[in-house]
Amino acid sequence: MSSRFVAGMTIEDALRAAESIQGQGIASTLDSLGENVTTPAEAQRSADIYHRLLDAIQARGLKANVSVKLTQMGMDLDPEHSLARSIVSDLVDHAVAAGTFVRVDMEGSEYTQATIDLVRALHAKPENRGHVGIVIQAYLYRSAQDIATLTGEGIRIRLCKGAYKEPPAVAFPEKKDVDANFIRLTEQLLDTSLYHGIATHDEAMVAAAKEYVRTKNIDRHQFEFQMLYGVRRDLQRALVAEGYNVRVYVPFGAEWYPYFMRRLAERPANVLFLAKNMLRS
Ligand code: FAD
Repeated sequence: MSSRFVAGMTIEDALRAAESIQGQGIASTLDSLGENVTTPAEAQRSADIYHRLLDAIQARGLKANVSVKLTQMGMDLDPEHSLARSIVSDLVDHAVAAGTFVRVDMEGSEYTQATIDLVRALHAKPENRGHVGIVIQAYLYRSAQDIATLTGEGIRIRLCKGAYKEPPAVAFPEKKDVDANFIRLTEQLLDTSLYHGIATHDEAMVAAAKEYVRTKNIDRHQFEFQMLYGVRRDLQRALVAEGYNVRVYVPFGAEWYPYFMRRLAERPANVLFLAKNMLRS
């Protein structure tokens, strides 16, 4: 079942998926799966895959960028995060040369501040402007303030609900409050003139964004909807048909397990589907 959510094991699998998606008018962001590496060599190997991806995106003229996790780039390996900073800085330099973009994914709340600090530092380099962005999670209480700081500096944001298990001290425990905050934050983002990503499969969130854009007369190409590979393909296609920009997050690689488990946890129906298929086989 993991192949429903993961494009394959190799770079070539991911590029093939991106090409096929592009044929449907959808851009992609490529994610080499992996997180919380334990040695510098592992972090560098993870980065090497991204350098190869950036070369391939440029060589094939793909409408694609990359998404990276800082714990995969060695964030846990030194308290100053110097290793991750240097590795991601090289990736952003490469993205600038390739004319594309590095999105730094957001992980659990113990990493929020360090991730924001690192992205702000990278974005402060004038050549990097427009080539590095971040993710903000609507379940965190702090997110409106973080968006104000980041957009004030011109940093592009992907807004998502948030996929990690967080305590009520830092995150809204109730889905209805996360949803209400997602809508507020979507409006906050759309009020800036930056190009942001609204990442959700929730039709109510999509409808709220569309409505806000309509009433405020915001150009529908001023932002993009983002969805995960294999999730709500019908909605992805419908949005493209309506003239919205859509980007799909294409994960690949051998380390699919934690990613896959988060996707199962999001939707009980996925667990049922998996159980039925296991019983059949
Ligand atoms: P939900 O309320 O969870 O779901 C709404 C509806 O969407 C469901 O009823 C169902 O119809 C459909 N749906 C949602 N998930 C699934 C699924 N797994 N399988 C099938 N149907 C589903 N989280 C982070 O914490 N950090 C990140 O950096 C990050 N990056 C992301 C990038 C993209 C492009 C996307 C789309 C999501 C990302 N996420 C990230 C995950 C996100 O935080 C949510 O966990 C996930 O998107 C589910 O939330 P939802 O907005 O789709 O709404």
